[in-house]
Amino acid sequence: MRDEEGRIREATLRGRLKQAGTLKLAVGDEVMIEPGETELSEKGGTGPGTSAWAITAIGARRSALARRAPGGAYGERVVVANVDQVVVVFAAAQPEPHLRMLDRFLVIAAANDIPARIVLNKMDLATPDTFERFADYTRAGYELHATSARTGAGLDALHEMLHERSSVLTGPSGVGKSSLLNTVYPGLNLRVGAISASVNKGRHTTVGAVMVPLPDGGFVVDTPGLREVGVWNLAPEALGDCFVEFRPFTGKCRFRDCSHRAEPGCAVRDAVAARTLSAARYESYLRLLDELAASAPSW
Ligand code: GDP
Ligand code: ZN
Repeated sequence: MRDEEGRIREATLRGRLKQAGTLKLAVGDEVMIEPGETELSEKGGTGPGTSAWAITAIGARRSALARRAPGGAYGERVVVANVDQVVVVFAAAQPEPHLRMLDRFLVIAAANDIPARIVLNKMDLATPDTFERFADYTRAGYELHATSARTGAGLDALHEMLHERSSVLTGPSGVGKSSLLNTVYPGLNLRVGAISASVNKGRHTTVGAVMVPLPDGGFVVDTPGLREVGVWNLAPEALGDCFVEFRPFTGKCRFRDCSHRAEPGCAVRDAVAARTLSAARYESYLRLLDELAASAPSW
């Protein structure tokens, strides 16, 4: 763990907190520590200053990104706690934006009640229709930040967005996540993805999150799990509200448990037909709904 001054300290959970079944410690948790008993270590070094610290309490979580426990077991596993925002990075081109993937990231953020922002990088490669391609998202209420790590455009605003916050930074590879961070924070020398790849080396599931402290306050969280896993932990009935612009309509359907697929009196489908809601986003919704139904836990 890291103390208030940013020093890394080795700490272990005090006995009582270790007991099974209770809250498990997650990356991003805020904890109270006390000096532990001096350990008689075989590696030597029992002198002053080498005593381990004991974690005596885990603070209440402001938020958590969670996924269903592995193997379909009941329960959820917190991937990272106390995240303030999910920042989804896409490129105007190279690679071409894959908007159904963007939808997936936004649903994961919404399902965990974490605000999401979109960064549109490589604006130096933008074409006249670039903003139009993202219009569904600005209309839905998402902030869209245009940047270019190459020309430096939009980087002050990006810096301000990340300052003093804990941000999950995600998006397809090659869109410029590392370039953006290294330009905003010269010397940080960060490779998004590479950090977690090395930390998780040899493990079967790479779901561990890594928090990188920013030099002037805040953290960037790299979670390999977010990229690979589907929309976990979500009841199919909850998916509609994860498309934030559907929310004014989901409560107006004739049936309370409307799946917005084929039911009569569906306010969501009516809004799509009237072009009040985006047909592309609705397609995305249907696709994710199929996925959720196929992966529904069987307990
Ligand atoms: P990551 O996988 O998302 O971390 O992407 P990288 O930061 O590794 O960038 C992938 C490639 O895109 C590299 O060759 C970068 O030089 C290039 N790149 C990053 N940002 C920009 C940009 O704003 N404009 C252009 N034209 N290229 C960029
Ligand atoms: Zn409906």
